[in-house]
Amino acid sequence: MKCTKCGKDLVLPNRAYLNLETYKVGGSVMTASECCNTGYIIKMNVSYKTTEYTGDAKEDDWGVELRKS
Ligand SMILES: [Zn+2]
Repeated sequence: MKCTKCGKDLVLPNRAYLNLETYKVGGSVMTASECCNTGYIIKMNVSYKTTEYTGDAKEDDWGVELRKS
């Protein structure tokens, strides 16, 4: 996207993304852009995909016994 202040390609520091992924999944960070130091808020856009498990395991990742069909 373009920076709303200076009109150039928006450049945000990598540390902002790394911090978000490491410490604030589901939250947000506020960072100065590298193009002109305008403040931007970055939020992670998380999505989930769920499919039925059809393997041979007897229990789930928390030790809960799986129903046998
Ligand atoms: Zn800018």
